Amino acid sequence: MGALLAGLVYAAMSGFGLAYILQDILPELYGDKIYSNWALLLIVAKLPLVFALRAIGGYLNAVLITYCGLKILEEIRMRVFSKLQYLQLEFFQKHNSGDLLSRSMNDTAILQQTIIQGSNDLLVQPFTLLAAIIFLVWTALENTGVGFVLLFLLMVPVCVMPIRHLARKLIQRAKQLQKEMGVVTEYERENLTAIREVRAFNLEEEQKRGFRKLLQKFFGLQLKVTKYFKAIAPSIEFITSVGLALAIFYAKKTDITLEEVVPLVVALYFSYDPIKKIGVLHGQFKKGLASLERLEAVLDEPITITDEPDAIELEKVEGRIKFDDVEFSYGEGPVLKEINSALEAGKVYALVGPSGAGKSTFANLVPRFFEVTGGSIQLDGVDLRKIKLRSLRQQISLVSQDPILFNASIYNNILLSRPGASEEEIHEAARKAYAHSFIMDFENGYDTRVGDRGARLSGGQKQRITLARAFLKNAPILILDEATSALDGESERQIHDALEVLVQGKTVIIIAHRFSTIQMADMIFVFDKGKIIDRGTHDQLHKSCSFYRSVYDNRLS
Ligand code: ADP
Repeated sequence: MGALLAGLVYAAMSGFGLAYILQDILPELYGDKIYSNWALLLIVAKLPLVFALRAIGGYLNAVLITYCGLKILEEIRMRVFSKLQYLQLEFFQKHNSGDLLSRSMNDTAILQQTIIQGSNDLLVQPFTLLAAIIFLVWTALENTGVGFVLLFLLMVPVCVMPIRHLARKLIQRAKQLQKEMGVVTEYERENLTAIREVRAFNLEEEQKRGFRKLLQKFFGLQLKVTKYFKAIAPSIEFITSVGLALAIFYAKKTDITLEEVVPLVVALYFSYDPIKKIGVLHGQFKKGLASLERLEAVLDEPITITDEPDAIELEKVEGRIKFDDVEFSYGEGPVLKEINSALEAGKVYALVGPSGAGKSTFANLVPRFFEVTGGSIQLDGVDLRKIKLRSLRQQISLVSQDPILFNASIYNNILLSRPGASEEEIHEAARKAYAHSFIMDFENGYDTRVGDRGARLSGGQKQRITLARAFLKNAPILILDEATSALDGESERQIHDALEVLVQGKTVIIIAHRFSTIQMADMIFVFDKGKIIDRGTHDQLHKSCSFYRSVYDNRLS
């Protein structure tokens, strides 16, 4: 409201006040009257007075509008971030993280610029134009007849033509530009996460070349956007000058005096100026619109994996998991088919099979990271889709192959699996995971920060911290994606010992790569090409299943 009022003052002073003052003081000064210095000063003081009012109005308007713009930006960024927390994993395969980062940072920034500049001018310029038109029409009718007014009105549609044409070009290019910005961001992100590989494979030059190429493309697009955007103001300025020339020509022909014509020319100028600014604003809006569409694509993306209205909260979970004719596809052909198996509570199941057979997919369906495309999965007899997601995931501990730690203290990294746990419980969990002693060896103990994605810890240490998380959470279901990479003997033994304790009393699904882990299993599922082709204990399978034997002999040590 304040912004509106300040904008009105600014507009009135620009469009109306200045020309009015000139009209008021010029005849006086050039008339026959003799003024004392003070009187003269008083007359000319009207000029700074108008400008002071205009300045204060403009300043307040700009600050208040910027405040609104920043608030809106904050809200949009927050909404995009919130949305990303709940969107299904599938979405993140379609959009890489660089693209999403770029949307959340760059597109919101462009939108902010549009909002600030836009709302500022959107309010001020039309009012300035209106004030100038009122002045023009009023004065012109009074002094010089309708000719002037008609002349002015004729020029307006001429101004609109280049605006429309350029703005159309602008929106296409702006969209392309923002998309390219996403590609550049993704390239940088990928490069930063692979600094080691870049050094190891001597990819520095190759990476630089690739980046240069992207930047050149980006540069070209940027230039195009600038070309169209910056063409708006000069085209209108040129049309303005033609308008002004015609006005002067008309004035000469109709014998209008200088005192009469100066205010009119000023008013004319002040009415073309808002047209120019509205033109630029239109271009800015098109740029903003391109970014807005990219943000809306995220905000409007439907969340497909979510709570059904009648979803229930789980109370006490035993941990029986039943796959009923489950089928799954990532979009193209089926990755899992005809999966029927009943996992009993408290038993350990190992998934074995060649790479790409569907083991991870099978495990990922249980916490509903992906939704089955056929059949159903039940936990304790309840279809997973009828269980509140939060409640379902509370029952599951996940230990992944490539554990990601947050860049926080070790303490907080363990704590996140059960917020509210006591310090003693955290130490106990770390002890069980054979992590306590190496944590205590750090100078800062549990307060040690682990670095970006846990960069300051070894692979074995990271795994033990994720095991500590699982001990702390103590959920009835455990999903474990065993690391394929070899660890040192000591870590390997400690992790195995920790696992033996961890699996007690839980329903466990292990994507197993090591013989020692397979031996823990009560039952092994043999996967091939998306199907469970056999099942049994190691001894049974080794005897009866030639496929298992070959996988086992080839891949396991
Ligand atoms: P495994 O864990 O046995 O190595 P996966 O479950 O990871 O096998 O993969 C099974 C199949 O699904 C493979 O053919 C793989 O290419 C495909 N796949 C895995 N993840 C995705 C994904 N996110 N999008 C599309 N296809 C995928």
